[in-house]
Amino acid sequence: MDIEKIIRRNVELRPLTTMRTGGPAAYFAEPSSEEEITALLDYADKKDLEVFILGNGSNVIADDSGFDGLIIKLGNNMSEITVEEDPSDPDYMFITSGAGALLSKLGNTAASEGLEGAEFACGIPGSVGGAVFMNAGAYGADISDIAYEVRYIEDGIVHTRKVSKDDFGYRTSFFAYNNRVVTSLRVRLRKGDKEKINEYVKELRDKRNNSQPLTVPSCGSTFKRPEGYFAGKLIQDSGLKGFSLDDSGAEVSSKHAGFVVNNGGRAGSSDIRRLIRYVQDKVFADSGVRLECEVRFLGGGKE
Ligand SMILES: Cc1cc2nc3c(=O)[nH]c(=O)nc-3n(C[C@H](O)[C@H](O)[C@H](O)COP(=O)(O)OP(=O)(O)OC[C@H]3O[C@@H](n4cnc5c(N)ncnc54)[C@H](O)[C@@H]3O)c2cc1C
Repeated sequence: MDIEKIIRRNVELRPLTTMRTGGPAAYFAEPSSEEEITALLDYADKKDLEVFILGNGSNVIADDSGFDGLIIKLGNNMSEITVEEDPSDPDYMFITSGAGALLSKLGNTAASEGLEGAEFACGIPGSVGGAVFMNAGAYGADISDIAYEVRYIEDGIVHTRKVSKDDFGYRTSFFAYNNRVVTSLRVRLRKGDKEKINEYVKELRDKRNNSQPLTVPSCGSTFKRPEGYFAGKLIQDSGLKGFSLDDSGAEVSSKHAGFVVNNGGRAGSSDIRRLIRYVQDKVFADSGVRLECEVRFLGGGKE
């Protein structure tokens, strides 16, 4: 396989992230198969390139200086979704989804098949692979509640892992370690009342629309929920709802204090990072709680 054929050079990351920051990636590829991913990892290894796996870019702040290594983006090329009966139990069905599919598509497929449990997934703007990595969740449910089996690549070998709750934690998972690349997810869902499922999807969508700044670039919740607290409430209590340090566009949302947003998409990653640090320091000084980032940083060193 001539893997160089699918590698592009100097690809801008800004349009590939929902925060709308980021300079060029030196090497970039969007593979179509597990074989291509393995070949890309091998290529990076031989060239001593750092690798970053990118899904839908809805939880990463890409650095304005770009990324020197290889971005492997799992997107449309690996987004097939199939639905099948569970042969061992007629009340359940399986949905298998490529890591590059949108999580909302998986959720919507479940709803249209009348399968319950994946309603929470409909409003999360990540890919299936990113959602497995992060154990994405909302409104009391997360990926660990529905995941049955995950395919992933580790050290050049494709593994299929039957998963349990123990493989997942709060916004993290077994797959977030050791450079594992998630290639597909199989969920097992119970057949339910289609009308009720669709009503619940709508209820969650309305809740989200009413409480979150969905029309402004962001990564969703910037910080993890500290045990015993809510990040948004702590930030609000520090008087930072709607706060900005300057007119860069980096702002604590006035709609939801837990979201740092990029107004007009004009702030750079350094503006966003500066604001994040300010919020962390102020909240720590006021409450003694150190907010930890839920967002991940791509390039430019670690936070
Ligand atoms: C408006 C908005 C609302 C949001 N609401 C929620 C919410 O309700 N709940 C929630 O949990 N999150 C929420 N998020 C955050 C985000 O959507 C989730 O974290 C999502 O799971 C990230 O998926 P992604 O494909 O965009 O991952 P990316 O942002 O591309 O990557 C995130 C991390 O996952 C890794 N990764 C991605 N794909 C793979 C893969 N295939 N294999 C291995 N590693 C991989 C990346 O290397 C990176 O470290 C929201 C974001 C926005 C912008």
